[in-house]
Amino acid sequence: CGIFAYLNYRVPRTRKEIFTTLVKGLQRLEYRGYDSAGIAVDGTGKHDKEQICLFKKKGKVKALDEELYKNDAIDLEMEMDTHFGIAHTRWATHGEPNAVNSHPQRSDKSNEFVVIHNGIITNYKELKKYLISKGYEFESETDTEVIPKLIKYLYDNRESECVSFSTLVERVIQQLEGAFALVFKSIHFPGEAVVTRRGSPLLIGVRSKYKLSTEQIPIQYNESRDIQNKNYINKVDSSNALHSVNDRMAVEFYFASDASAIIEHTNKVIYLEDDDIAAVAEGKLSLHRMNRSAGEDPVRVIQTLQ
Ligand code: GLU
Repeated sequence: CGIFAYLNYRVPRTRKEIFTTLVKGLQRLEYRGYDSAGIAVDGTGKHDKEQICLFKKKGKVKALDEELYKNDAIDLEMEMDTHFGIAHTRWATHGEPNAVNSHPQRSDKSNEFVVIHNGIITNYKELKKYLISKGYEFESETDTEVIPKLIKYLYDNRESECVSFSTLVERVIQQLEGAFALVFKSIHFPGEAVVTRRGSPLLIGVRSKYKLSTEQIPIQYNESRDIQNKNYINKVDSSNALHSVNDRMAVEFYFASDASAIIEHTNKVIYLEDDDIAAVAEGKLSLHRMNRSAGEDPVRVIQTLQ
């Protein structure tokens, strides 16, 4: 049960470098215990860049690592300027350890939305029943699979073309009960990442050549938003997002269940708290929450790991 994800923005990386970073991240989390592992990256070759490609394997991270290099269709030298890759080790709670049940779990056969999850969704049965009634077909026995399907359902039924990725995730977690750390990737939001947590740990590492212009990231509270009000979509103001000296800055983000997977890349980290939603779009990190509770700190501080 470990999460590791890596987003490079304007930092060219070959697919091989991305695989190596993801696999190493998982290996750092191996001590937490797991029974299977999986990875999602963009495309399998030059012609299908937009698609998401999944690799899932029962057993050791080493077995998954070998799998990554077996496929001749994969161009390992292909360089990507901006890319988001996600990786997971699973400790099965619902459904036996096998490739289908391992993560990333997906919305559909085209992998429109893929999700990695640590924790347990306690109300997954109700959600599954609802989604089945809407025509969704489930392939795994996991509790997790309701999440990518629910976000696809919300995306397909969105009332406005410009709904943001983090807004969709916010709506998803409003429906979830239980414990989770979640990472979302989607073909509809290329180069973007959305992560959130409740009860399970998750932190973000930031690496940049430049001095980060703010060490405190204000949380954007969405108090004025009303889920019934169709006008609130995409009103998120990114002016408070984590900027750098200029907007074209190259930056890398690491997302992990544990600092041990991040420390080799950067010592600048932000710990997420329950119901925080962190989103990276165009290389900028912003934090959102649905409601502010009394006495709550409206910022997250970037900490320096020793
Ligand atoms: N409950 C999820 C599953 O069984 C996630 C388990 C985990 O935390 O690794 O697939």
